[in-house]
Parts: sequence; structure tokens; C-alpha cells
Amino acid sequence: MAKVLSLDIGASSIKSGLVDINGIISEEKRTVIKEESYNGFIDAVKSIMSEISEKPAGIAAALPGGYDIEKDEIFAPNLHILNGKHIRNDLENIFNIKVLAENDANLAAYGEYVFGDKKSVKNMVFCTLGSGFGGGLILNGKLLQSNITLFEIGHMSIDFHGRQCGCGRRGCLDEYCSTGGLKEIYKNITGKEINPVQLGELASKGDNYALEAFSEYGRLLAGAFANISALFCPEKIKFGGGLSELAEYYMQALDEEFNKIIFPAYKGRVKIERAVLKNQAGMAGGAALFFGL
Ligand SMILES: [Zn+2]
Repeated sequence: MAKVLSLDIGASSIKSGLVDINGIISEEKRTVIKEESYNGFIDAVKSIMSEISEKPAGIAAALPGGYDIEKDEIFAPNLHILNGKHIRNDLENIFNIKVLAENDANLAAYGEYVFGDKKSVKNMVFCTLGSGFGGGLILNGKLLQSNITLFEIGHMSIDFHGRQCGCGRRGCLDEYCSTGGLKEIYKNITGKEINPVQLGELASKGDNYALEAFSEYGRLLAGAFANISALFCPEKIKFGGGLSELAEYYMQALDEEFNKIIFPAYKGRVKIERAVLKNQAGMAGGAALFFGL
């Protein structure tokens, strides 16, 4: 069976795996980018290619940033070694193989959709909750794509006088619905700074401040999801990423607030669910798009 080599490119390492048409991933591993340069990145891909057990039908690269499909150009402000590079062309030339590249959150959205919801749902939004707030949109069964990465949902502002975002604007959801946003909520309540995992541990022991912080986070997320619903009224909004692992502490607040504030005509039409593929969604989505699923 034909397989695609999926690469999920992170800040200092590449997660890779061979993915078949059913989304089954084998030979999954993480390869460190040893030298912090574009050559270092290419060397890491070479090492992955040399170690896989069969020649893949192609490569699907999930990129951490915006991507211009026509110009084959990456905008990766947080991963400068890739910024402005022509990754599709370079990998195609080096490995003499067909390469597909797209933004990682968009590919994760598509993976989650194709291998989870395609049979039952036509319109779906997927959001990743991690160091940022990203996502992708499935409209009429297809990933919404253009010559530039779409659905930069993390950069919709909920407060034009709010927190400064890395993009230059103020009040972006990226600053509120992310790991940093959750930390800030807890800091505002207690004056203390702790990470989300520690916050989860406190919440599991019934710590009121931690539970309050998670509830506030859930209400903020509800605001973001209500905004998304006003635009697309998707049948489903799914969320993944690191913070989705802590959903048990904010799901109730999220649901309650969402049902309160969603555009009245859409009430009861938008389901909110946790993603199921976890950190494999991007790899699965890259292969799904490559295979034309
Ligand atoms: Zn922003």
C-alpha cells in the first residue's frame, strides 16, 4: 500500500511518520534539528529519509507558519530558519519526489476531519490550543485553502486595547486562548506564575483558584467559538493541542457560556468536541490531502 512520509515541523525537531490511506501511521519518530539553520533542517529531513524502510509516494510537510502555496514561500516568524524559504521546491529537487506543504493547523484540521468526522459532517472548524491559538476550516467537505494560509483565527482581536500580540496588533485570541493566556488568568487571580500542567495538578486536588482560572479560560474559549460560529455556523467545532488535555477542568464553563452567547439562530446547531487524533492530526492530515481524500 502506498504511503506518504509526513513531516510535522516544530521549533527544534521534526516529527515524522509513514501514513497510509487509512491514516495508520508507522515508523513514527522525532528527529532533532541539530544545527539551527536551513541546512540543518534539510539534514534532518535527509536523515529521516535515509532511515525509513520503504520509498514513500511523496512527502507532506506541516509547516509552523503561513505558507504561500503559489510562490512556495513560508512566513515563519517563530522559526526563522524556514522564513522565506521554498521548502516544496527544495525537497522535491533533493529527493526527486512529489511534495505537498501546508500550514500545520490547517493540516491538523483536515486530518481530524477526514479520519474522524467526514462521514457525518460537512462543515467543521478545528482549533489548536497550545502556545498559540490556530485552526482550520472544513467547508462542504473540503479544507478551505487559498494561495496563502487561511483561517488565522488566533489573530482575531477581542480587545483593541488589550494585550500586545506578536503580530503587532492588540487583543488577539492568540494572547488569551493559549498557554500564555491561561497562565495570565491564574496570575491575575493569585499573583503567581505556574504552567498549565501544574495548574491541572492543583485543579485535580480541588484548588479553588486553579478551578476558577480554568473556568475563566473556558468562558474566553466560548467567546472565541461563538465568534467562529457567527461566521460559519459549523456543525462541529473540535479542539486539540496541549491545553485540550486539560479540558475536563474547563469544559463545563465552556459549554455553559457558549450556549449563552452563541448567535440565537444558531443555538443547538454547533457541537463542541475534543479532538481524537492528538498530536498525530497534522501528519494524518498531510497524508489525507496528499492522497486527495
Ligand atoms: Zn495577533
